[in-house]
Amino acid sequence: MEAKQVFSNMAPYTPGKQIEDVKKEYGLDKIVKLASNENPFGYSEKVREAIPNMLNGLEIYPDGYAKALREEIAAKLSVKKDQLTFGCGSDEIIDMLCKTYLEKGTNTIMATPSFPQYKHNALIQGAEIIEVPLINGYHDLAAMLKAVNEATRIVWLCSPNNPTGSLISKEDLIDFLEKCPDHTLVVLDEAYYEYIDRSINPNSVALLNDYDNLVILRTFSKAYGLANLRVGYGIASEEITKYLNITRGPFNTTTISQLSALTAFLDTDFLEKTYQENITNKQTFMQFCDDVGLEYYDSEANFLFVKLPTSGDQLFTYLLKNGFIVRSGEALGHPNGVRITIGSKENMTELQELMKNY
Ligand code: PMP
Repeated sequence: MEAKQVFSNMAPYTPGKQIEDVKKEYGLDKIVKLASNENPFGYSEKVREAIPNMLNGLEIYPDGYAKALREEIAAKLSVKKDQLTFGCGSDEIIDMLCKTYLEKGTNTIMATPSFPQYKHNALIQGAEIIEVPLINGYHDLAAMLKAVNEATRIVWLCSPNNPTGSLISKEDLIDFLEKCPDHTLVVLDEAYYEYIDRSINPNSVALLNDYDNLVILRTFSKAYGLANLRVGYGIASEEITKYLNITRGPFNTTTISQLSALTAFLDTDFLEKTYQENITNKQTFMQFCDDVGLEYYDSEANFLFVKLPTSGDQLFTYLLKNGFIVRSGEALGHPNGVRITIGSKENMTELQELMKNY
């Protein structure tokens, strides 16, 4: 049975290599995964301690409204409770946005390379895709604005951008929002928000007061270390949120996910450790790259995209055989390079030794 026409040249998302598969393939005991920008320090001990108490009531459907988590986040961010939408990862919020705002006859604008799910979900809805190449790793905001027309429903801004790590400054963001017409949503995907250097943090949530067409995406998958539990959220006007919640599956986040996210959100010590270690280990790795003459993009995230003169596949395969999974640029729309998640100090030292001998 054939699916919609658009599926004829689409494929499922192919994630990076799995640890168990690599162990088997290369006969290795120890694998370090630096491929999906997960937290190398795991997650808050407080979540680990709290999970056994969450096991009662699994036969009952969860609270789809995620009341407790919603109240805490709304209070901390100083937004109304009905400005938040929770999803099975921010992946699901991206899907909800596409379902809500895109259809045949509309278009959507995104940088390339950027996070692939914008395009994937927009295609399924039949929208026209307008991709604007990055300039030296950064969004070309002027060209993106120029591409906006009557039929543009969503512009995706990924900041820090995956896979380059570049940040859109607060000034540039405001300028973009000022010039973007009201009929176009500006989706600011801040999956790596907690890693941004605090001295230059764009404090984007405050902009929601001035721009009704702004949607901000955040997640518990990265700095909070809960990728497996699948909780992301959108912050937007009450009107947009109302529509997103019509699209949302009724029980799309589980009680365990919501309460774990809540516990993680309250553990500011764990977040602080993650933030500090990432900055230190990223700086050390950048210094290493400088010393060996490797170029990279400026990154405000927990990964670095290392530029190479040839395909990233060779370095990727060499590292894989030696027990390190990174992400080849070939899989990310930027063939010449590899994206490497910043790991623990110990893992980064080992990685650097391997790269020296490459
Ligand atoms: N946005 C960006 C930029 C990402 O890198 C990711 C994860 N790779 C996501 C969204 C989705 O994250 P999640 O669904 O785990 O919240």
